[in-house]
Amino acid sequence: MAKVLLVLYPDPVAGYPPRYARDTLPRIDAYPNGQTLPTPEAVDFTPGELLGSVSGELGLRSYLEKAGHTLVVTSDKDGPDSEFERELVDADVIISQPFWPAYLTPERIAKAPRLALAITAGIGSDHVDLPTAIERGITVAEVTYSNSIGVAEHTVMQVLALVRDFLPQHQIVRDGGWNIADAAQRSYDLEGMDVGIFAAGRIGRAVIERLAPFGVRLHYTDPHRLPAEYEQRYGLTFHDDIRSLVRDIDVLTVHAPLTEHTQGLLDDELLATMRRGAYVVNPARAAIADRDAIVRALESGRLAGYAGDVWFPQPAPADHPWRTMPNHAMTPHTSGTSLPSQARYAAGTREILEAWFAGRPQRPEYLIVEGGAYAGTGAHSYAARG
Ligand code: NAD
Repeated sequence: MAKVLLVLYPDPVAGYPPRYARDTLPRIDAYPNGQTLPTPEAVDFTPGELLGSVSGELGLRSYLEKAGHTLVVTSDKDGPDSEFERELVDADVIISQPFWPAYLTPERIAKAPRLALAITAGIGSDHVDLPTAIERGITVAEVTYSNSIGVAEHTVMQVLALVRDFLPQHQIVRDGGWNIADAAQRSYDLEGMDVGIFAAGRIGRAVIERLAPFGVRLHYTDPHRLPAEYEQRYGLTFHDDIRSLVRDIDVLTVHAPLTEHTQGLLDDELLATMRRGAYVVNPARAAIADRDAIVRALESGRLAGYAGDVWFPQPAPADHPWRTMPNHAMTPHTSGTSLPSQARYAAGTREILEAWFAGRPQRPEYLIVEGGAYAGTGAHSYAARG
């Protein structure tokens, strides 16, 4: 029987919600590329509940315990004295969400000799040291597509928030003010702008499709070029690399995984080649940007705004400079953990566990690493070179 260690974010400060803002979730029959939604044999939760915090347990407890497995749930994940560090020594399966990542460093993996499966409840498995997982033969799987559309919606929201300068205007209202000149002096229209999409995978394409009706000129780069018919439909200009992409755009959105090829790409040098007053929205991974270069670019006016929802480390410390830098519209890491997304990635996590315990193959699209190599989505997206 297996020990499953589940790391989730803490419950709401006021306690686990007794009721929710809405009674139902919107119905979705399939993902945009036809991929089916998660298909576990059953789920033991009501979609729409808060499943990603410790009391929600991703709805997994009764399923795992009925099958004779042990489930340990904790939010205490950082530092050598954390519950995560104590419990991982005999864990067979570790599950965590990118919003509250249980960083599986090489040192921690070395302390977990039984670890055979690391599941990301969500998308983006860079919190697991993938080269070590490859070396150790650990399977790494995630719930591909579970929250991609939500992240694309968040991206569009943050692009508009920055370009139109929404947050300061909202603050004027909250403060009882009415100075229209204050509100208008940094406000632009998105219409007519050049927008660059860095990586056109599931999220990047959903952003393209949602931004096209705004009357923008769309550019993108990705090691996997999109079909000509798709490029024509959205009027896309393809660029060979990010250096070419950023030169002639007003807005950059970032949707690549964090890999050795994308780490630190948005540095002083690259930012200096962008139009003065460009905006960057990065809901992919914080470490794709050089933290202090972003602060410098905002302070100098090189960038007119930066937004996104990914930080390093997470949770971000209270003195993280992105909390206080000028003209930002950051959120905590929430774009992929709306209540509908939680229902999908909780069901997908159960689907992965059911396949694992039954010895059935995983869906290839859920796989990042398997059998000592990148596999499935991992082979397509993590092993790609920029
Ligand atoms: P995806 O696998 O569908 O797409 C990733 C794309 O990145 C692929 O098209 C791949 O070819 C491209 N790519 C890989 N390396 C590249 C490089 N060096 N240069 C340019 N492009 C490169 O994944 P997705 O669902 O679109 O998600 C993308 C990333 O977004 C995830 O890896 C994750 O880090 C992040 N994400 C964040 C949240 C959130 O809540 N903020 C949620 C989901 C995913």
